Amino acid sequence: MNLSFNQTVLYSSVLLGIIIVVMMVLERVFPYRKGVPFFLVREGFWVDFVWYTLIQNYVLRIVIFEYIIAPIHVSMNWAPYQFVKSWSLPMQVLFFVITHDFYIYWFHRFQHSSKLFWRTHEAHHSGKVVDFVEGSRSNILEIIINQTIEFLPIIIFGADPRVVPIKGLIDAGQGMFIHSNIDVKMGRLKKIFNSPELHLWHHANYQEVFHANFSTKFSFWDFMFGTSYDPGKKPGNKPENWGLYYDYPKDYFLQHAFTFKRFDENNLMKYKWFAAYHNSRRNVLHFTAQQINKRTGWKIDFMPPTKTD
Ligand SMILES: [Zn+2]
Ligand SMILES: [Zn+2]
Repeated sequence: MNLSFNQTVLYSSVLLGIIIVVMMVLERVFPYRKGVPFFLVREGFWVDFVWYTLIQNYVLRIVIFEYIIAPIHVSMNWAPYQFVKSWSLPMQVLFFVITHDFYIYWFHRFQHSSKLFWRTHEAHHSGKVVDFVEGSRSNILEIIINQTIEFLPIIIFGADPRVVPIKGLIDAGQGMFIHSNIDVKMGRLKKIFNSPELHLWHHANYQEVFHANFSTKFSFWDFMFGTSYDPGKKPGNKPENWGLYYDYPKDYFLQHAFTFKRFDENNLMKYKWFAAYHNSRRNVLHFTAQQINKRTGWKIDFMPPTKTD
């Protein structure tokens, strides 16, 4: 089967859609952590899905490909360096998956050990509920660094353009899988492939795992470099068992501001403009529910306007 670039993009998108549906179902049927709400109604859904998954991904794809990679690509003649050009498509995909995964293991490990770089990674650990959508929560700087280092070599070393959407699909599918709230028993395979069993522990709020389970796709990096943590039990179900040990803003923009300056999000509520902005989504949803109730006689409320989330 010899697909064109556009067909590859189309099929990758369809496959991604299928993976999303499968994740949604498996999270409900085989939950790793019991009592986790359906992702549409859980705290932080808006931030994770609308801001990080849709808007941020869309904007950063343009920034990274059009404004970083493209200028570097045209800045010089890369022909002498295009060593993967003659390789088969599967070989190219495998090569870039493994080499980038090796890089990301070390960069991720570095982010956990450097106070400065931790600030580009803490957003990813800030969720108290981890599910297949929450994994997309990553600081803009972290995405720009990691995806430039991921996709620039694919372009300049002469890979088939289809490697980009294929790798994108693998990244998205595997990223959703390791963050999914699914109770998967990988058996011996967990020493090779990463899984929720290992990565959910990485999102747990325990000191002993703060410097462990850094792998993304292949868990063998952790086993090889002595950073695996697999205690054979689950982290627990309480909010304090998960996420960060310190307060972290819940708003998308404040999460990014927090990278540069520490502050207490709740103190900002004293400013009228901030309170209005902060409550706007909740008020819109509340108003919508009221309108539906009026017309149908139902008693639904998507989100009461007084709480913060
Ligand atoms: Zn981490
Ligand atoms: Zn993660």
